[in-house]
Amino acid sequence: MSHVIHRSLAQVPLVAVGGKGVELFDQAGKAYLDASGGAAVSCLGHAHPDVLAAMHRQLDQLAYAHTSFFTTEVQEALADHLVAHAPGGMTDVYFVSGGSEAVEAALKMARQYFVEIGQPERTHFVARRQSYHGNTLGALAVGGNEWRRKQFAPILMDVGRVAPAYEYRDRLDGESQPAYVARLLAEIDAKFQELGPDKVIAFVAEPVVGATLGAVAAPAGYWQGLRALCDRYGILLIADEVMCGMGRTGSLHAVEQEGISPDLMTIAKGLGGGYQPIGAVLAQRKIVEAMRRGSGLFQHGHTYIGHAMAAAAALAVQQVIQRDQLLPQVLARGAYLQKQLHARFDEHPHVGDIRGRGLFWGVELVQDRSSKATFDPAFKLHAKVKAQAMEQGLLCYPMGGTIDGLHGDHVLLAPPFISGEAELDQVVERLGDAIDKVLAQQP
Ligand code: PLP
Repeated sequence: MSHVIHRSLAQVPLVAVGGKGVELFDQAGKAYLDASGGAAVSCLGHAHPDVLAAMHRQLDQLAYAHTSFFTTEVQEALADHLVAHAPGGMTDVYFVSGGSEAVEAALKMARQYFVEIGQPERTHFVARRQSYHGNTLGALAVGGNEWRRKQFAPILMDVGRVAPAYEYRDRLDGESQPAYVARLLAEIDAKFQELGPDKVIAFVAEPVVGATLGAVAAPAGYWQGLRALCDRYGILLIADEVMCGMGRTGSLHAVEQEGISPDLMTIAKGLGGGYQPIGAVLAQRKIVEAMRRGSGLFQHGHTYIGHAMAAAAALAVQQVIQRDQLLPQVLARGAYLQKQLHARFDEHPHVGDIRGRGLFWGVELVQDRSSKATFDPAFKLHAKVKAQAMEQGLLCYPMGGTIDGLHGDHVLLAPPFISGEAELDQVVERLGDAIDKVLAQQP
């Protein structure tokens, strides 16, 4: 009998008792190849000796000091590291304990910026359908995952909603990629006009959509167009890199591959690699300067912001990524994973799309490849694939079924950056077997 309120109240999950490298172990001693790093978290795998050593050192020195009294050397060092590798103009960092907190802080910082510079009439956010930005009320409001928001919708702030950049399903037959991008940007422009461009605080989006769509990057030119559009109206651009950031796509930040710099950027999962709960907001100087010159403080704060143990773990994770040159490795192993996924699934009658960047891949499952018809949500394909993969000793992150009726089931893969080719072969083999076994049970 468990007294924990687990994610599913229908059953108590298996008990994890250990982890080493790319594997996790349950109480029965069974090993699981961690091909999703939980939810794209464990970028260095489990029990990395250098991270553990750094955490032990920090614990011996200082676990926690409240940020209304002190800063800590380790928090400052982590901020220095992040700023040294940040997209252009991002000069300041605000530390929190996870992704949703990072999004909340970014939304509030964006709003406060406009209050500080004398534009308090800006009160709206615009974001995309089929997106996920977290489960706290502000983050849930900007997110467009209908399944997660539905019962809370009456108590969420109103957010302007536009289409995701989801080429596989939304680019029209015969529409060129530039024409598709122009159509998406025109819709955003129209939404800004509808709300009043001087009433909008920020546009919020994931550079590579993670949980909701499965590693979907926008088509070329979208982010540059978006940046220009926001600049035209003085609207801030918030990039949510909680899942796709910190090296997952092969560059430290996914926006680097789009050639733009956002005004605010949220990071979390891969920042601490799961060794500690930590997230952060990176901010352009103009935003922090406006607060410094204005009220002199960011009107926000939680008890555990800037936590010393969390900062120590994250600093160690980021130093290992840099020292071991793991970003080029993400690109190389990502290209290998891409090749193996295509070899296994290109001819598969129920794989409609394979997309991704770096070590962040999505496989979309369809009933029919030519019509892209989805499976009946009642079949719960994604849940069955997750369970079958676990049977076969594989942890992957399937999702989908019911979002806006526009999207089917997908499997998200986000293996640790340290995965070898033989391990990636195993990922593809076990995933293929799991999908085939589940599809064989169709009514
Ligand atoms: N933003 C994005 C893009 C995410 O993928 C997630 C979590 O999956 C969040 C925000 C929320 O992060 P957390 O679960 O750490 O609160």
